[in-house]
Parts: sequence; C-alpha cells; structure tokens
Amino acid sequence: PETKLPKVGTTIFTVMSQLAAEHGAVNLGQGFPDFEVPGRLVDALDRAMRAGLNQYAPAHGLPALREAIAAKTERCYDHRPDADTEVTVTSGASEAIFDAIHAVVRPGDEVIVLDPCYDCYEPAIDLAGGVAVHVPLDPATFAPHWGVVSAAITPKTRMLMINTPHNPSGAMLGADDIAQLTALLRGTDIVLLSDEVYEHIVFDGARHESILRHAELRERAFVVSSFGKTYHCTGWKVGYCVAPPALTAEFRKVHQYNTFCTFTPAQAAFAEMIREEPAHYEQLGAFYEAKRDRFRAQLEGTRLKPLPVPGGYFQLVDYSAVSDLDDAAFCRWLTTEKGVAAIPLSPFYESPPAGQRLARLCFAKNEATLDEAIARLGAL
Ligand code: PMP
Ligand code: GLN
Repeated sequence: PETKLPKVGTTIFTVMSQLAAEHGAVNLGQGFPDFEVPGRLVDALDRAMRAGLNQYAPAHGLPALREAIAAKTERCYDHRPDADTEVTVTSGASEAIFDAIHAVVRPGDEVIVLDPCYDCYEPAIDLAGGVAVHVPLDPATFAPHWGVVSAAITPKTRMLMINTPHNPSGAMLGADDIAQLTALLRGTDIVLLSDEVYEHIVFDGARHESILRHAELRERAFVVSSFGKTYHCTGWKVGYCVAPPALTAEFRKVHQYNTFCTFTPAQAAFAEMIREEPAHYEQLGAFYEAKRDRFRAQLEGTRLKPLPVPGGYFQLVDYSAVSDLDDAAFCRWLTTEKGVAAIPLSPFYESPPAGQRLARLCFAKNEATLDEAIARLGAL
C-alpha cells in the first residue's frame, strides 16, 4: 500500500541518540536534561500513586491541575483562562499540537509553518490532509519577515504556527512581532497555533511574549506548553493547551479519541508543584542562563562559533572554521569520530539555506557533561 507519510523516516533525535549510544558520545543532540527532577515533584508523584490516583483522569485533565494552570497563566501573563472550558491537559505538547491541527485543518487547507521548525508539525498537517506552506525565517536572526508570511496567505490558509522561544535557534518573538502578527491576522479566520514549550526559559531580562498576554490574538489561538521542559522530565509526557471555548471544544473532540486522558498521578503532582512552588518556574530562566553563559564561555576556547541564545536550551554553533561537510555529515562525524552528538539543522527545513553550516547543541546538562563535551570539542 502507498505510504501516507512518504517524507517521514526515523526522527533525527532518535537517529542521533542511537548513534551517540553506539559510539559512547556525549549526547548534546536530542533535547533533554541529564539532571534530577525536583524532589518535591517525585514525592508528590509517589504520594499520588499511593493515594490511589491510578485510574483514568477526567478526559480534559484533573480539575486541580487545570485550576493550577489557569492561576499560573494569570500570574505570568495577566490573563486567567477558564479552567473548565479553556484548559486541556495532554500527553505532552506533541499530543496538543497533533490535536489542535486535527481539530481545525480539513483536507486541502493550508497551514503556514516558519522554517526551521520542529519536526512534528508537518506530519500532523499531512495526516489531517492539509498542506504545509513553508515560509523561511531570517537565516541570520531566525526572526520572521511578516511581509513574507503575509504573502504566503491564501483563501485556503487555515492555520499559522509559531514557536517562541524557538527550537532550534532560541529566537524569541518581540513586542513588534506581536503587533505585526496581530495586524496580519485581523479580519481573517486564520487560527494561530503557538508552541510555547520553552516559555519559562528566557534570558537577559527579556519578556516571553506569550500569545496568552494578547487579547486579540488569544481569541483565535491554541497555546501549547509542556511540563517536560519546565520540570526536567521530558519522559513524563505531560503538556497542555489553552484556547478559547469554541476552539477548546473542537480540540477536546480529537483529544478524547486520541488519548482520552493523561497519566493521572503526574497530573496531581504537577498541580501541587505549580501551586506550592512557583519559584521553580520563576527561576528557571536564571537557572538555564547560568548554564548558557558557562557553556558559551567554554565554547570560546573552541573553533565552533556560538550564535546568540535568547531563550530555550539549545546553542547553535557555526562550524565552518572546522569543516566543510554539510550539517548532517558533520553531526555524524562529530558523534562517531569526536564523541559529541549534535543535531543538524537541515531536518527542520523544507529547503535548508545553501551552505548553512550550523549544528545544535543542548546545554540542559550537568556541568560535568558539558565539561567533557568541551574537552572533546576543544580538540577539533
Ligand atoms: N515543541 C517543541 C518546539 C519542542 O522542542 C518539543 C520537545 N522537543 C515539543 C514541542 C514536544 O514537547 P513534548 O515532549 O511535551 O511532547
Ligand atoms: N524536542 C526534543 C528536541 O528538539 C526532542 C524530542 C524528541 O526526541 N521527539 O531535541
């Protein structure tokens, strides 16, 4: 039978993690922390399981967690979504993205994505029968050119996807982007899907421009986040979606037949953690900023040139002083010959810029891990 996803193979994250394991490489490829989950969160999970919270949760999420998300949203973004009609807990941001796309994209609809973009977007659009329309971000700054986005809009455009802070570059949308985006969408019925999984990992005193801060935009938006990034537990796969009631109703139709509900005890644990320890997410930016600064200072001693990192936990490096290989070949070579796994950027594009020589390194790691990686990279 004809494959439904002809362009899809194994994700670059799986490929590079396997290669790293085979070659004993320090894995700065796939994005995940190698340090501990907060003790309180583990204790809360243990207590929830022992208290018997082991059966199906309400499909849309435990009320305590939806309330905690609503309160956190108000605390962070001056807007309190309705926990009953506007907040849905999902099995990671990945499920939320899939559900949001399937909730609104019909066969033949166009969805604008900004390249480079995270790799789960396009397959979900394809499976919904939609057409991904790729608009390049600025190759130097990874900022959107809103005029170019505007030119890509047609009567078939159903959705626009954005991601801030951005994976892989760390770039963040600013107030001016928000103003331009608002003007761009005004008068259209285009739905916005805002991937904000790195919402709390922002640096240098910058403000995360969550779409939830902006009344006109949030009226047409699915806003998605992930506790995996905020609480150092990417393997727990719990995320959520905030959207106005009409969009949430459609979203929940997909969610209830996709997963129905999400791991119950973790929901209780996150509810407690969000409520009782807001300092965790409030200090996450500072926590990662120290890691970023230390790692960047170390990179100065190598021939890899670090690009700016406004947010997120990835460092892009320009390796053109080291090698002329294309990025996929370079990252393989780095992993198998030099013992440091990295992620090439080309899989994040429909058509990668010619001659781009960038690789992505994850700095969500213990100092010892980063020190070992730097020792190996210094020898390039
Ligand atoms: N969006 C982006 C930009 C991501 O980096 C990730 C995680 N790698 C996800 C979505 C998916 O998040 P989750 O692991 O919660 O499904
Ligand atoms: N989001 C992670 C990254 O960008 C990978 C997640 C995955 O492996 N699917 O590295």
